Amino acid sequence: MAGHRYPAKKTNFSERLLECNGLREAGFDRWAFHPGMLFRAREKWWGDRGTRPSPHEGIDLCLYTNEPGHLLKLDESTRIPVMFDGEVTKIEKDYLGQSVYVSHGTDDGHGRRLWTMYGHMRPSDHIKPGERVRQGDIIASLTEKRGKTTGPRPHLHLTMAWVSQERAFRELNWETLHDPGIAILLDPLNAMDCPYRILDPDASLESC
Ligand SMILES: [Zn+2]
Repeated sequence: MAGHRYPAKKTNFSERLLECNGLREAGFDRWAFHPGMLFRAREKWWGDRGTRPSPHEGIDLCLYTNEPGHLLKLDESTRIPVMFDGEVTKIEKDYLGQSVYVSHGTDDGHGRRLWTMYGHMRPSDHIKPGERVRQGDIIASLTEKRGKTTGPRPHLHLTMAWVSQERAFRELNWETLHDPGIAILLDPLNAMDCPYRILDPDASLESC
């Protein structure tokens, strides 16, 4: 189906994130994902690791491994670049911080435009609705706020979708994303060129 196409050009998001946070110098080898952090995951990676209320609408980025294979995590000062050129359309409070919505110039030929959404963020000072951004510009940092003791640690929740141009501005939010009349979700990992590994589902994430 045409709506499931991915943008022709890959994003340098991962490279840029490593560069502007000095992660290569910190020993970065590859991203690491608990299965519950992946697109469409049904399981939680925090707390009791029960079931999510709905399939995961993106990916959660916070873990990576170094060359010896030790698990490391992004800290709260981590700066987050935008995936593609575009315009900041909306900033909203979420349960760990704020969400930044960005629309991009690319459309799918069926009335939908490419959007990316960054959850649990602390937006940079200049980031306001209407602000034009270039791929790789820093738009936010991870939030300093911690979830409840059983909640997830600070992380970037990243969603990518084709969003109905007619309905996006009035109706798009984390709930309506699941309505295919509003959004067709994409796996952000498919738009990125980056090495990663998937952790054992039983791996402990507490010590990293
Ligand atoms: Zn998430």
